[in-house]
Parts: sequence; structure tokens; C-alpha cells
Amino acid sequence: MLTSLVEAAPRPRPAYRSFRTSVSRVVRMSPHFTRVTFSGDELAEFGTAGLDQRVKVVLPIAGRGFVDFPEGEEWYQAWRELPAERRNVFRTYTVRAVRPADREVDIDFALHGDLGPASAWAMQAAPGDEIILIGPDELSPGRALGIDFRPGTVDTVLLAGDETAAPAICAILEQLPADASGVAMIEVPTAEDVLSVRSPAGVEVRWLARGGGVHGERLVPAVRDWVVRTCCAQGCIPGAPTSSAAVRDLVAAENADLEDAPLWDVPEGSSLDGDCYAWLAGEASVIKTLRRFLVREAGMDRRQVAFMGYWRRGRAELD
Ligand SMILES: Cc1cc2nc3c(=O)[nH]c(=O)nc-3n(C[C@H](O)[C@H](O)[C@H](O)COP(=O)(O)OP(=O)(O)OC[C@H]3O[C@@H](n4cnc5c(N)ncnc54)[C@H](O)[C@@H]3O)c2cc1C
Repeated sequence: MLTSLVEAAPRPRPAYRSFRTSVSRVVRMSPHFTRVTFSGDELAEFGTAGLDQRVKVVLPIAGRGFVDFPEGEEWYQAWRELPAERRNVFRTYTVRAVRPADREVDIDFALHGDLGPASAWAMQAAPGDEIILIGPDELSPGRALGIDFRPGTVDTVLLAGDETAAPAICAILEQLPADASGVAMIEVPTAEDVLSVRSPAGVEVRWLARGGGVHGERLVPAVRDWVVRTCCAQGCIPGAPTSSAAVRDLVAAENADLEDAPLWDVPEGSSLDGDCYAWLAGEASVIKTLRRFLVREAGMDRRQVAFMGYWRRGRAELD
């Protein structure tokens, strides 16, 4: 009897699953940011854990839409086995907001031209367009899968990233406790790309406009400067490089050194307390430059540094 009861027990719901949606609103927030709102009845069960929750945005194939896209828990394996021309492209994005009661999810796309299929899609997105999101299932015990911001109970947070990390940083800022302290530094293409965001009084938010410079040109010196001033008053590390050329050289050296594996290391932060937690995301060589500085020069424990290469110059996201 017991055996048959055990056999009959339902399998736990998968942490991630596909949600069929269509675009209901498109708002061009700035020259390089577009917010797309996705709607659909299935989104009533979309995960609400927030923070830097990542999802996959599955794009339609011209003339075929999603007819070949596999459903179910084993979708990825089934997708890989399809012939290339029947494989929908997908890319990774962050949930900027979720409103289950309205059956809506917002995603903020950083536009970088029509070189990449996701950016090209977002530039043309219009109400009625169909899209599949692979995202967290609120009813699953694993609903927090895909969240990498795990600061434990540290005193100070350092959030740093480029425009692709802006949605995650903004969502994290809005969920930090009211007494949080630290800094968020977000490098964006132009001064017109500065967005408004709610944040605790003790967390300084600095938007850094690149204004035609290379990725990292404003972010790297700003992070170094903040760490030197805030964490190393006794001068335990060298000061920030001052010239753009010096930053470009640092970032280029890291780019040349990057291997093919995704640049990603997210420590389990639940045991952290006191001190500082750094969350870094954006272009891989910039993030590697920052991480090297924090760990090797500033002496931060690598368990206090989460770093995520969200994209890599000259490389499409692996399908
Ligand atoms: C966990 C995670 C969360 C992310 N969240 C977001 C998000 O919320 N919003 C967001 O906009 N992006 C986000 N990204 C980054 C996004 O997935 C990449 O930018 C992705 O490469 C875009 O796909 P694409 O099809 O436009 O370009 P791809 O086909 O992947 O790349 C084509 C070319 O464009 C270049 N490229 C890619 N992105 C950029 C860029 N931003 N600027 C300049 N050149 C670029 C590549 O180097 C490549 O040469 C996230 C990535 C990860 C891993």
C-alpha cells in the first residue's frame, strides 16, 4: 500500500518552464533602453522572487513562429536535437518587474543595434508579437533558481555593471532593505540613458555615461576609486588608473586572456556577514578587470564577490 502511495506522488514542478506570451506594451525609455511588457494567462504563475532573476527570451522563426519549440521539462535537450533551421534563438534577460495579478512581466532591453537577434527584435517589438519566456514557476519549490544576488547579511553592498546589468541592479535596489548601505554604479551609453530608480537612502546610485568611450571606461575607475576611499583608507591598494588609455589597456588585456567558458562565479552568500559584498555584471572583460582588482589588489575574499559575464564583445550568446 505504502509503495503504491509513494509511486503515485506527483513529481515536483520544475523550477523553470515555458510561458506563452504576447507583447502588450513597448515603451522606449531612452535612446538605448526599451521596456517590453509581456502578457498572457500563464503569467499568473510566473515566479515573483525578483532581484536579478534571469529568464530566457525565445524568439520566433520567420514563417514558423514557435511550431518546433519543444515544451516540457526536457525542452533544452529536445531543442538541441532539432536541425539548426528549426531551432528558435533564445537569449538571457532579467525580469525587471512581474505583476501576476495583471498577468504581466516587464523586461528592459538594452539596445545595441541590429547585430544581435534579441536587440534587433526589441527595436521592432510591437503589441501583439508572440514570444515564449522560459522563467521561474511560482508554484515550484525551486522558484528561486536563476537568482545570483546572495549577499547574506553584509554591512555594505557594491553593485556594478553596464547597461545590460541595469535592469538587475534596479530590481535589486528596489528590493534592498530600507537600512541597506553601499553604492550602485551603472555605466550606460549616454547621459540620456539615466533611468529613475527607487533605492534605500544609504545606497548611493551613480549613473556613469560612457559618451562614446569603450565599455568599462567610466566604470572601472569609479569602482576602484570608491573601494580605495571606502574600504582602504590606510592606502592598502594603489589608486585608480586615471587615464582612459590605461583603463582600455587593462580591459583589452583581460579580453585577450578570456577563455571560452562563460565568465561566471557566484558564491553562496548565505553565510556572509559583516564587511562588503560585491555583485558585478556586464561585458566579460570589464567584469574580469573589476574582479581582479577587488580580489587581487583590494584583498577582498573571493567568496564576497559575485561576478557574471552577461555578454562578451565580439561573441554572440551561445545558443
Ligand atoms: C543573466 C543575464 C541577464 C541579462 N539581462 C539582460 C537584461 O535585462 N537586459 C539586456 O539588455 N541584456 C541582458 N543581458 C545581456 C544579453 O543577454 C546580451 O547582451 C545578449 O548578447 C543580447 O543578445 P543579442 O541577440 O542582442 O546579441 P548576440 O547575438 O548575443 O550578440 C551579437 C553581437 O552583439 C554583441 N553584443 C551583445 N550584447 C551587446 C551589448 N549590450 N552592447 C554591445 N554589443 C553587444 C556581441 O558581442 C556580439 O558581437 C543579460 C545576460 C545574462 C547572462
